[in-house]
Amino acid sequence: MTELWLPLLPFGLFFAWLFLFGMRRGQKCPDCGDVLPSIQSPFKKTSRQWFEGGYLCPKCGCEADLAARKVPEGAGPSVTSILHGIALLALVTIPALILLTLLFRQ
Ligand SMILES: [Zn+2]
Repeated sequence: MTELWLPLLPFGLFFAWLFLFGMRRGQKCPDCGDVLPSIQSPFKKTSRQWFEGGYLCPKCGCEADLAARKVPEGAGPSVTSILHGIALLALVTIPALILLTLLFRQ
């Protein structure tokens, strides 16, 4: 029985840690002071939030970064966050291409 759940234990611990501490709960809106939601609909995210993360206050519509500082309306993602995104994508693309090459090699 222990053989079944033992390989899943690290994943369970990671997701428990993520749920308890990694979701940055309790951040307050810089405009109205309301508590910002830790989960947000992907349909309401701005392009800046896709690169850098952040919050959108459901009460007043204020956009805030991960540290709950106000972001000017219409601000785009910074060059640094775009470069980080490209670097992370390259980091996972290279092993994926190697694995696909090994998979389809005859
Ligand atoms: Zn607000």
